[in-house]
Amino acid sequence: MNIAILGAGGFIGSHLVEHLLARGEHSIVGLDIEDEKLQGIEGPAFTFVRSDVREVPDSVVRDADVVVDLIAYANPSIYVESPLEVFRLNFMTNLEIANQCIRYGKRLIQYSTSEVYGKSRPPDTVYFEDETDMIMGPTTKQRWIYAVAKQLLERVIHAHGLLGEIDYTIVRPFNFIGPRIDYLVPAGSMGGPRVFAHFMSALLEGGPMYLVDGGAAHRTFMSIYDANTALQAILDSPAASQQIYNFGNPDNNIMIRDLAPLMMDLYQEATGQAPRCEPTEVSGETFYGEGYEDMDRIPPDISKLRALGWEPTRDLNETFGDTIRYYLKEAGRISV
Ligand code: UDP
Repeated sequence: MNIAILGAGGFIGSHLVEHLLARGEHSIVGLDIEDEKLQGIEGPAFTFVRSDVREVPDSVVRDADVVVDLIAYANPSIYVESPLEVFRLNFMTNLEIANQCIRYGKRLIQYSTSEVYGKSRPPDTVYFEDETDMIMGPTTKQRWIYAVAKQLLERVIHAHGLLGEIDYTIVRPFNFIGPRIDYLVPAGSMGGPRVFAHFMSALLEGGPMYLVDGGAAHRTFMSIYDANTALQAILDSPAASQQIYNFGNPDNNIMIRDLAPLMMDLYQEATGQAPRCEPTEVSGETFYGEGYEDMDRIPPDISKLRALGWEPTRDLNETFGDTIRYYLKEAGRISV
């Protein structure tokens, strides 16, 4: 199969390229503006196309059997600072790619987000792909433009699917974690990357580990390696056509305020040294700016994925332990 991965230079894309190349069954074209995270990932079955993700050449879509669209801003500080940029990339650009797939009759695997569930708290405390209502925050909290853009994209693709115009699968990731996830920041800085990178920076340098709004929100974290095998299951299963899937590991749900000590323990285990950082509470608006609002995220139902023969394999300790060791090695703190 010829697979085009749009946004191949990002965290998810670079792992997917690596995983699919190792399987040795597919030809991969990876498109991105930068290839830093793809360094060392190579092989005769892989072609890198350097291109702005806003202008995906028709030929990349035309020559593929399957297009995997990973193009997105996926970082809450951007939703607050540049909501229109988020709309343009996460809706307009992705819509154009869906239109290219329709034009050339190509299968589309569209990465969406678990954030489309918004503030929903179903009574049975799980998210079901095809049943759970989606409840968004007010317009004045511009953070929600991300979830709304992704939700509208899902709805437009689904509507084209109903007309028989596109063969699609939508993926809703629940906080993937793994090596290369993010850039680190000076300890004590606010906004910027995701929670792992902030806590990792605090572990490396010492300083505050900020618990936004007391760290009371939950997140369900999934190992990037489990995310790769889940995507593989989608590629291998004709039954995944015209379907939406949660990609998550429901056993890995944790409150952010409990994640801080977990990462401190894993750091100590890896280095033999006690970390010099301190969990410190801060408000969401101080940390991200005006227009931020958080949601508490409950574990996903993954029975649709399980029906394809897939199971998650990595728990929180292994997922965060691997990733912490990767960043410690990058920083020259450990050798293995
Ligand atoms: N968060 C935190 N400290 C940080 C960064 C994030 O407490 O240094 C919180 C954030 O408010 C949210 C959770 O961690 O409740 C996950 O945030 P992240 O940006 O990683 O991802 P997302 O909100 O997109 O799931």
